[in-house]
Order: sequence, then structure tokens, then C-alpha cells
Amino acid sequence: MKSVLVLGGGGFIGGHLAKRLKNEGSWVRVVDIKEKHEFWKSEQICDEYVVGNLCDPQVVANVMIGPEQSAQGDAANSFDEIYQLAADMGGAGYIFTGENDANVMYNSAVINLNVVHEAVKKKIKRVFYSSSACMYPEHNQLDPENPNCEESSAYPAYPDSEYGWEKLFSERLFLAFNRNHKLDVRIARFHNIFGPQGTWDGGKEKAPAAMCRKAAEAESELEVWGDGRQTRSFLYIDECLESVLRFMRQDDFLGPVNIGSEEMVTINKLAQMTIDISGKDLKINNLEGAAFKAKYGFKCPIGVLGRNSDNKLYREKMGWEPKKSLHDGIVATYKWIAEQMKLGDGGPDRKIRDL
Ligand code: NAD
Repeated sequence: MKSVLVLGGGGFIGGHLAKRLKNEGSWVRVVDIKEKHEFWKSEQICDEYVVGNLCDPQVVANVMIGPEQSAQGDAANSFDEIYQLAADMGGAGYIFTGENDANVMYNSAVINLNVVHEAVKKKIKRVFYSSSACMYPEHNQLDPENPNCEESSAYPAYPDSEYGWEKLFSERLFLAFNRNHKLDVRIARFHNIFGPQGTWDGGKEKAPAAMCRKAAEAESELEVWGDGRQTRSFLYIDECLESVLRFMRQDDFLGPVNIGSEEMVTINKLAQMTIDISGKDLKINNLEGAAFKAKYGFKCPIGVLGRNSDNKLYREKMGWEPKKSLHDGIVATYKWIAEQMKLGDGGPDRKIRDL
């Protein structure tokens, strides 16, 4: 039986990944600063759920001891796989306003420093690191119709957020530990992953979840941040997991590689698609400039003007790529968020459901 550690498994991608790995028969330990997963009971996603702050090196040292491993860290019983997904992050309202820059950089960098250091000591067999498309330089993403996010375009670097700079630093950190300490790493750059069991309210939600919530609650109009012409692509969670596991379970290619969809849409197109799925008659209200500032008190955080995953390298190396349409993913996500909203305040376990 494989032993697997999912750092940040109390979160969106980590929770889905842990659940899939457990269902496939691995022994899974999840570590998260959150007391529990927001939408699942611990036993649904792992064998052991540890609450801990990964900024603390002692916590990292403790949780990296495999279930059968001695405290000294014998190689034979070390974890087969670690997935490092823990990061201080959120949607545009969290990472692009500047308000959270120090926390985003410090917390995530310290977690990654602790992880690589301890992974070498505990002779971990393979580590996955989740970087982000936010590390690509802003100057290649100014034309909404033709963004360049090919892996080789990362340098000269100029990400448009501190979140992106930290990701770039940590990619290099994992690569340096691979070079100097033979740490076996796999590095992927995620492009907007979405789906059910993700944050959909409270300020840390991303565009697809925010659209679904807004459409589900709206009666006449749906507010979209910016002029709506900015472009993005979005990858459904199940496709993300499949892409990660295929990448993690081959021996030749370390990355960094994009994991995303090449189905690029404008944000207004995403909004209209969500409206159509809701079956409502809603008008899109593009809020920007002074009107946005007056309403929210900060500059409209739209991020880069264009971004799309470039899957050429992934296709070439893996001989496979994600296929599910954005529409099908939004249908599933809308259904789940609309249900969550109907559940209202039905008690502490209101969001925990067996799906
Ligand atoms: P998420 O916020 O749902 O999950 C991250 C988890 O890390 C959270 O549960 C959080 O509590 C945990 N965490 C944060 N600080 C911690 C700490 N100090 N100690 C322990 N746990 C801590 O985010 P997600 O969407 O699941 O993303 C997972 C990873 O993928 C992150 O590294 C993120 O930067 C990266 N990523 C995600 C996307 C996306 O679209 N979701 C895109 C690009 C990159």
C-alpha cells in the first residue's frame, strides 16, 4: 500500500486529491491549518487528518514521518508521495489588492522552505509542488486574444502579483533541492482549477465559483469585475487530478509544466454561460474604475488581461491532455453551489455531504 501525505488537504484541490488517493487504496495523511475540511468529513478523504501550521518546522518534521517510519527517517519506510498544496492564497480579491502581500509571501515561502528541508531529511521518495500560472510575466499577457503562457516564456520574469513571485521562488527552491540533494520533485503550474467542494463565498472564492454564486442569488443582474474582456481558461477539478497523477507517476520529466485547459474565454462569456445554465434572465453589469472603488474601497483587481494554458509540453510528455468542456464543469459547479445556498444555516455540518 502506498503512503501519501497531502499538505493543504483541508483545501479545495488537496481535499479532492486526498479523497481520490484514499479511494484508490493509498494510506493518506492530510495536514492543514484548518480544523477540518469545509465540505467533507475527515474519514471521507484520509486515514489521518492532522491540524497543524506548516510554517512551524517542528510540525513539518513530525508530519513527514511515514506511518511505519522510525523518527530517524529510514529510507525504506518514508512516504511514497507528498503533495505540497498548502499556500496562503485566494481569489483576485485576496491576492491582487495588495492587502495580503506580506502574508502571502511569508507564509507560503516558509512552508515551502520547511517542506524541502524536511523532505530530504526524511528521504521522501517523491514530492509534488503546485505552482501557478500567476508566475508568468505580465508583459506576455497584455493581449487578451494572444497571451503567451508557454513554460519557456517564464523568463525574464515579471509576475503581476507577489503571489506569483513567491511561486516562482518556490519552483526554483524545489529545483535547487533536486539538483543539490537529489530530492525527486514534480512541479506543475495550475491554471484556474474549479469545481464543487471549493470556496464559493467569503472573499477567497475564484471567478467560476463567484459567478455561480452570483447567478444563483441574482434576480436581475450579475456583477462582473472589470470590462469583462479579460480572458482566462479554467480546468475542472477531476481533470486536474488526472493530470497531476499522470505527471507524478512517470519517472522522466520533472516540469515545471502547465496543468490547465486551452479553452480560453472572456470573463463575460463565462458570466453569460453561467447565466444560461442558471436558466435566469440576468443582465451582466461590468463594474470597474471609480464605480468599483466607490463600492468596494479598493481598485478593481482584474489581474492580467489575457491568460490561457499552453498544453503543448504536457501533451508531448504525457501523451494525454484534459478534455472536459468548461460548460460541463460549470453545470456541475453551479448545481453544487446552488444546493449549498439552499442549505442555509442548517447547523455545523450543513456543508458536509456524502457525494
Ligand atoms: P486552498 O486555499 O483551498 O488550499 C490551500 C490549503 O492550504 C488551505 O486548506 C489552507 O488552510 C492550507 N494552508 C494555508 N496555510 C497553511 C499553513 N500555514 N499550514 C497548514 N495549512 C495551510 O487552495 P487550492 O485552490 O486548493 O490550491 C492548492 C494549491 O494549488 C495552492 O498551492 C495554490 O497556490 C495552487 N494553485 C491553485 C490554483 C487554483 O485555481 N485553485 C491555481 C494555481 C495554483
